[in-house]
Amino acid sequence: MRLSGIAASPGLALGPIFRFEREEFAVREIELMPEAVEGELERFHAALEVSRRDLAGIRDGIAAELGETDARIYDAHLLILDDPELLESVERGIRAQHRNAAFVFRAYMTGIASTFDNVEDEYLRERRADIADCARRVLRHLLGTGTRQFDELREPAIVVAHDLGPSEVAMLPRDKVLGFVLEVGGRTSHGAIVARGRGIPAIVSVPAALQSVRTGATAAIDGYLGVLETDPGESALAQYRVRMERARVRTESMRSLEHEPAVTRDGHKLELGANLELPGEAAAAAVSGADGVGLFRTEFFYLNRTERPTEEEQYQAYRYVAERMQGRPVIFRTMDLGGDKVASYLGVTHETNPFLGLRGIRLALTSPEMFRTQIRAIYRASAHGRVRLMFPMVSGVEELHRALLLRDEALVELQVAGQAYDPKVEVGIMIETPSAVWMADALARHSDFFSIGSNDLIQYTLAMDRDNPRLAHLYEPLDPAVLRSVRHTVDAAHAAGRWVGVCGEMAGDPQNAVLLLGLGVDELSVSVYDVPRVKSAIRSVQYEALSELAARALRCESAEAVRALMHREVDRLLPSFLVQDRAQETAPQGDA
Ligand code: PEP
Ligand code: MG
Repeated sequence: MRLSGIAASPGLALGPIFRFEREEFAVREIELMPEAVEGELERFHAALEVSRRDLAGIRDGIAAELGETDARIYDAHLLILDDPELLESVERGIRAQHRNAAFVFRAYMTGIASTFDNVEDEYLRERRADIADCARRVLRHLLGTGTRQFDELREPAIVVAHDLGPSEVAMLPRDKVLGFVLEVGGRTSHGAIVARGRGIPAIVSVPAALQSVRTGATAAIDGYLGVLETDPGESALAQYRVRMERARVRTESMRSLEHEPAVTRDGHKLELGANLELPGEAAAAAVSGADGVGLFRTEFFYLNRTERPTEEEQYQAYRYVAERMQGRPVIFRTMDLGGDKVASYLGVTHETNPFLGLRGIRLALTSPEMFRTQIRAIYRASAHGRVRLMFPMVSGVEELHRALLLRDEALVELQVAGQAYDPKVEVGIMIETPSAVWMADALARHSDFFSIGSNDLIQYTLAMDRDNPRLAHLYEPLDPAVLRSVRHTVDAAHAAGRWVGVCGEMAGDPQNAVLLLGLGVDELSVSVYDVPRVKSAIRSVQYEALSELAARALRCESAEAVRALMHREVDRLLPSFLVQDRAQETAPQGDA
């Protein structure tokens, strides 16, 4: 059987399926022998106790950082777990039904949550989310976490799940997971981005994938085309093997570009960086032929844990990355939490529109101590390599001023502590919101560089959720509105003598990279996988001709017209395999 979705991370994989179900879904009904009942009650009490301890720790952290008001949400969670009715009902259920704690507890919590189902009051509806959150926390302790489930995989497998958050993708054991397929998500969802960074083939937005597969069945996934094929026949398997070998040979041949610069045929040099999400990827970046790291997403230090990372822990990680790049610049982006990257101990409660909510620099500014801790760690790493600092999601000058003030305070703290750092660290901002585009001239006066985050800039410019698979065909990097935003930003930055990069996924497409160069961008940062492909494209074109091409693209009325123009003018200049790759990646995705 063949299922199609969105190609999220390139590559091919063959192997057995592993169905991954979340805590709520993964609960099995198990009949207990009478002598096992007491032990099960103990396990239940222990799970409640650990959950209470987690919550109390989170609560105190929030109270110290944000004050008692923000900590209240966790008091509510604690109250839910302390409810004597819950304890009694579940104990009674385990004893009377001789069923496992997870099964009885889930049934009880589902019953409580359903009483809020049809209430109009938003406050009460929020309580439903609290109950679900509490239930998940306890179930995690009763069942073991998702990542632990992956550790139990006996052989490498293709994971099929409803959803995996970015932190879960970051934690997948690479030697056990050949690739994954999700029922939801988009190409620029952070889970997809992390998969590309880690070289894990992935497909997203395959509705009903879970119910269509069984654990253990043989499957193939094609991360270029976005296809999952279960029980492929012998000839299909043989074809996959041939293609896997071809991809391996091509990757090898790309290595020859490692020491070549990203320069056009007529000598225009571009700085080509790699995007990293985890320190462990630095080794691959160092040998990818990248001129540096154009975006290090630091959020992953904050996810999948119950408390904040320490300054020392972050410093060691940032220092490692800076050292690995051996004098090449590394842009550390400060925490871009919120949206789809939620750290529960930060106390961000359910938001109706998380991507328009407490996210990025906004969230960081509400936790000044945590923010300064990170800035100190980044500056300390600057004593060991060439470090740049970047703030995400800046929407105006006021936010930038507040961030810079905290940066100044962090530097004073480092001086008092006698810690070494480079005082000349360049400080830039991401341009990801239409407001930042329009205020680029003012923002350029207060920052050393810009990096355009096209993933967000596209979603906010076109008002299209980057994670929504139903909009995936409309979420368009080549929309003239996006291109004009890039041009406006470049002009404003250059007028102030600042350089501009692009670090969103858009830059990783060789054709788009060429167009961005024509629009005047000075730096690109792409996934490690895309570094040699983009370099190869840049080395195939004449810079002279690109400004004219960009001017024509800016006059187009639609993305389709831009794409046709690029096809006519650029494709013939690029190495044929780059064009074929794109044809594969964008081929119609029917079920044929
Ligand atoms: C972007 O928005 O383009 C970007 C690089 O940041 P992120 O994908 O982490 O939001
Ligand atoms: Mg972004």
